[in-house]
Amino acid sequence: MTLLLNGFELAKQCRAELAEKIKSLSRAPKLAVILVGNDPASAVYVGNKEKAAKEVGIESVAYRFEEISQSELLALIARLNADNGVDGILVQLPLPRDLNEKEILQAIDPAKDVDGFHPLNLGKLLIGEPAPVACTPKGCMKLIHLAKQDLTGLRAVVIGRSVIVGKPMAQLLLKENCTVTMAHSKTENLPELCRTADILVAAIGKPKTVKADWIKNGAIVIDVGINRLENGKLCGDVDFDACFDKCAAITPVPKGVGPMTIAMLLENTVEALERKISL
Ligand code: NAD
Repeated sequence: MTLLLNGFELAKQCRAELAEKIKSLSRAPKLAVILVGNDPASAVYVGNKEKAAKEVGIESVAYRFEEISQSELLALIARLNADNGVDGILVQLPLPRDLNEKEILQAIDPAKDVDGFHPLNLGKLLIGEPAPVACTPKGCMKLIHLAKQDLTGLRAVVIGRSVIVGKPMAQLLLKENCTVTMAHSKTENLPELCRTADILVAAIGKPKTVKADWIKNGAIVIDVGINRLENGKLCGDVDFDACFDKCAAITPVPKGVGPMTIAMLLENTVEALERKISL
C-alpha cells in the first residue's frame, strides 16, 4: 500500500502546533514581507504567506512596491534589520531584473533570514551548524519523516541543483546519513540513477519528467515541482498516477510540498524570535 504524503494535512498540524507555541511566547513574532513589481504569482504567494502568518498569531507586515531602486530597498532592509521588533524578513523572489537579487539577499540580517537563503546560513548548513534552513527542503524532510524516521544508509537522489531547493535538500539528507547523489540537466543516464534511489526528490520544474520505470519499488518520492499545464491544472515533476503504485510513499501536487513550504516559513519566523529571547 502506498502512503500518500499529505502536505496539506501535515502543514495544518504544524500550524496548529506553532499557534500553541506562539501563545506561550512573551510577544507575537513579527514577519516583514517585501514584494516588488507586479508579478501576479508572486502577489498570490505573498498574500498566502501573510494570511497563514496571521492565522497562527504572527504579526505580518507587507511592503509592496510597483518599483523601488536598489538603494531604497537596501535602506528598507537596513531599517528592518535594526528594528528589534521585527523577527523575520522575507523578500519575495524573483525580483525585477533591474535589482541585484544577490546583494539584496545578502543585506538581510542572517538572524532574520527566515527563507534561509543568506550565504552565511547556507554555509552553516554545509558545516552542520544550526541556522535557518530554506523552507521547501525543510518541509520535504518533514514529509519524508512521515514515511520513515531513520534515514541512515538510504540512497537518496535529488534532481535539481538550485540554491533554494536542490542543494540544501541534499545537505539535509546527508546530515541524516543518507548516501546522496545530486542530479541535474547534464546528468547522464538519469532514469538508471533514479532507480537506485530509496528516496527520490524531484525539483526540476518540468511536468511529469519522472516516469514509473525510474522508480525503485518501495521508494519514497518527493515532488517539489509546480507546473501549470495547458488545461490550467497544476502538476508536479513526477508522473504521479503512473508512479503511485511503485512507491512506498509519494507527495501529491498540489497539496504536497507547497503547503509545507509556507508552514516552514512560519516555523522559521517563530524560531527566529525564540533564538532572540534565549540570547
Ligand atoms: P531551478 O530552475 O532553479 O532549477 C531546476 C533544476 O532542475 C536545475 O538544477 C536543472 O539542472 C535541473 N533540470 C532541469 N531540467 C532537467 C532535466 N531534464 N533533467 C534533470 N534535471 C533537470 O528551479 P527551482 O527553483 O529549484 O524549482 C524547481 C521546481 O520546484 C519548480 O517547478 C518550482 O516551481 C518548484 N518549487 C516549488 C516549491 C514549493 O513550495 N513546492 C518551492 C520552490 C520551487
